[in-house]
Amino acid sequence: MTPQTLMHGTGVFPDVGVGRVVLLNNSQAIREMIPFYCILEKDVQTEVNRFFQAVETTKLEIEELKKSMSEKLSASHLAIFDAHLLVLDDSLLMNKTVEHIKKNKHNAEHAFYTIMNDLLKQFAGIDDAYLKEKSEDLHDISSRVIHNLMHKDKLKEIDSITITEPTILVAQVIHPSDLKLLSDPNIVGIATDLGGKTTHTAIIAKALELPAVVGLHDVTRQTDNGEMMVVDGIEGQVLIRPSENEIRQYNQKHQMRIQLMDELKILSDLKPLTKDGVPVSLLANIELEEEVEKAKLFRAEGIGLYRSEFIFLTVAPLLPTEAQHFAVYKNLVEKVKGEIVVRTLDLGGEKFFHEVLETYSQQNPVLGLRAVRFCMTRKDIFRTQLRAILRASALSNRLRLMFPLISGVDELKSVLDFLETVKSELDSEGISYNHDIKIGIMIEVPSAAAIPDLLAHYVDFFSIGTNDLIQYFLAIDRTNDEVNYLYQPLHPGLLRLLQNVFQAGETQDVRVAVCGEMAGNPRFTLLLLGLGLREFSMTPSSIPVIKKIVTSVTLSQCKKIASDALKMDASNKIEAYIERANKKLIPEFERILKSLL
Ligand code: PEP
Ligand code: MG
Repeated sequence: MTPQTLMHGTGVFPDVGVGRVVLLNNSQAIREMIPFYCILEKDVQTEVNRFFQAVETTKLEIEELKKSMSEKLSASHLAIFDAHLLVLDDSLLMNKTVEHIKKNKHNAEHAFYTIMNDLLKQFAGIDDAYLKEKSEDLHDISSRVIHNLMHKDKLKEIDSITITEPTILVAQVIHPSDLKLLSDPNIVGIATDLGGKTTHTAIIAKALELPAVVGLHDVTRQTDNGEMMVVDGIEGQVLIRPSENEIRQYNQKHQMRIQLMDELKILSDLKPLTKDGVPVSLLANIELEEEVEKAKLFRAEGIGLYRSEFIFLTVAPLLPTEAQHFAVYKNLVEKVKGEIVVRTLDLGGEKFFHEVLETYSQQNPVLGLRAVRFCMTRKDIFRTQLRAILRASALSNRLRLMFPLISGVDELKSVLDFLETVKSELDSEGISYNHDIKIGIMIEVPSAAAIPDLLAHYVDFFSIGTNDLIQYFLAIDRTNDEVNYLYQPLHPGLLRLLQNVFQAGETQDVRVAVCGEMAGNPRFTLLLLGLGLREFSMTPSSIPVIKKIVTSVTLSQCKKIASDALKMDASNKIEAYIERANKKLIPEFERILKSLL
């Protein structure tokens, strides 16, 4: 029997799913299926007509899919389908296929496959995350048209694999056209080779609340149809061929999570105060407008981080217009009662790269032209976004503005200067905005974390991005399994750095939040409270658990934990110590860990 395999990737929706594998989008199989034959001169026009007929059918299918998903996805995400329709309207692509049919007298399936494949090969030669994602869209469209030419229904074919029991879909990526299939209640998880937190698969999994792990590199090669698999979106891992016992344990974990979430909902209306009455703010990180409802359900005080990259992703390959930006921010202001922190575009790294790639292709994008660095070189893109945020700020002073990846005072000043320029442009056009809009920065580059006192002079608030801060501070590429063991949120150096930022914030009256994953991990709550944190921003569904922890302890207990931890010299010691402290102070802690982590 093939041994079981544990694979690590990026967890997208934090839940566990156990089911049998169905492999999707097997491009090799599609290639083998495509018929190839020559046609007679007299049949050329019939073949061309047949091709156009299949393109029209595909368009209708996409329209149909879009309609059927309209209740599940917001208008901006439904735009993914419009992008697909645009490809099918691309006259160059269509003409090339017709030319191929006419010139070579090949059947339409083969002609279209050849043209699309040539295009995909050109894309493959360019090392760029954005184009890779676009290639996946092209694969999707190509296989749909070919299926229609062959009079095969892609969905029916998948149905015939029989989705009658809990199923994990395994694919290179999940395409928007797979959405309908994903709504089947028997689909309990997704595992993909490609993708990060900001790809289509992630958006889709989140919107449909499916446990998902993306970026597993070659999960499609490590498993086969019918095998059992566990998708653990909480830990970001999948277990292929689990034992009976493991299946039981993971199913239990899923049930316990559901039960715990139900119980914690009772806490919903409790104020997040420590036992000795210290108020703590629990805010939500969101990427999709749909998540506002989740944030409300879990009683988030506001949106501590709105990752605006998604506005760009949904309209790609176009750039969002000022009106499109504005519509999103206006919607947030109207729907959310508390504060809303809009973070300006954080593009780069694992996040998609756009139409600018040819000019900015980079060897090491995580250390390269990312976030504000990129925006300052593409002021056209930056200006459009800033104008929209400022205009939306006229609707409410709850709207705040935050800049990512600030590394020092010079850079911050130049970004703020540009903001002033944009404000003056609005002034001269007579457009109103909130002149006192609160401005913040992410503290996620170690050089910024070392000088919070200096940066504090220029802004109203800080939000610590522990995801990037840990990666940069400890020099760990989070996507590299070889060095994963060094990814230590409890490194003594990191604790000192965090304390430094909290203290500077307190002394200089600058609010400090944490919006990285640490804020939503119950293991770290007491320690962060003790180090001085009062604002936690996290995935909405983590809020009830963190509230449970906050309301179970006094601040003096937390301060003692932090001061003990700061005296220790290695993360494993700190980890063991805070685990003991958590268990001692929070009777439910072991149960929480079992169902959540
Ligand atoms: C972070 O870096 O911790 C963060 C919250 O930002 P992102 O995960 O979007 O980079
Ligand atoms: Mg970050």
